[in-house]
Amino acid sequence: MSTVERQAKIRMVLVNTTHPGNIGGAARAIKNMGLTELYLVQPREFPAPRAVWRAAGARDVLANATVVETVDEAIEGCGLVVGTSARERRIPWPLINPRQCGERIWQEASSHDVALLFGREDRGLTNSELHKCHYHVHIPSNPDYSSLNLATAVQVLAYEVRMASLANEAGELPVMDDWDQPLATADDLELFHDHLAETMAALKFYDPDNPKQLITRMRRLFNRTRMDKMEVSMLRGLLTAATRTIKK
Ligand code: SAH
Repeated sequence: MSTVERQAKIRMVLVNTTHPGNIGGAARAIKNMGLTELYLVQPREFPAPRAVWRAAGARDVLANATVVETVDEAIEGCGLVVGTSARERRIPWPLINPRQCGERIWQEASSHDVALLFGREDRGLTNSELHKCHYHVHIPSNPDYSSLNLATAVQVLAYEVRMASLANEAGELPVMDDWDQPLATADDLELFHDHLAETMAALKFYDPDNPKQLITRMRRLFNRTRMDKMEVSMLRGLLTAATRTIKK
């Protein structure tokens, strides 16, 4: 697959951005590093003159940005979703560093769409957004002052994707293993998790009014296994059979 085709499979997703200047700054950062796909989930103010001003020569990236209502729409069709985090969270998630993130994104973009999620300026990504991700990435900043400006964080991670693409051109990046089935996409996984939760409730294995951390832990378990589409439909078949049996 050509470099341009891979670049087009990498979505940089900005969630609920408050300051349009950051959207412009992110567009510029993305284009500088050879990427093209900017997704905006409910930006507070967009289109906006301040975004255009900060984008400088990257107005085309802004003009082509995809604006959506939900994170689920932004990651639809993606086989890999990575969430950024400026701090540690309660339930740990598989964590990669920016270099590993760049490499993984570039490798996986050869076979499916990938998304990198960026959070709100004031409070980052919500837990439920972070729990949709296969990996979290943290830029190892000063622990006493860990939060980067949003567009700056986009710059750092886009740079790592660039470095991985150059390493790949030089033959220095390992190629991904071949797999016989396409990987499950974010939307396949959402449907699977809904189905799993419904079935667990029907089996009285879990009480929807008192879920504790079961759902989160199930998400973490299945996100870690990187299921393919056939594995998801197999498990959904099993859930359907279980429900049918208890209804009898
Ligand atoms: N106060 C927020 C920080 C948000 S910073 C919080 O505690 O989560 C805005 C966004 O920039 C973050 O959601 C993330 O996408 C990115 N970002 C900032 N610093 C980062 C870091 N050290 N590592 C990874 N992403 C970072």
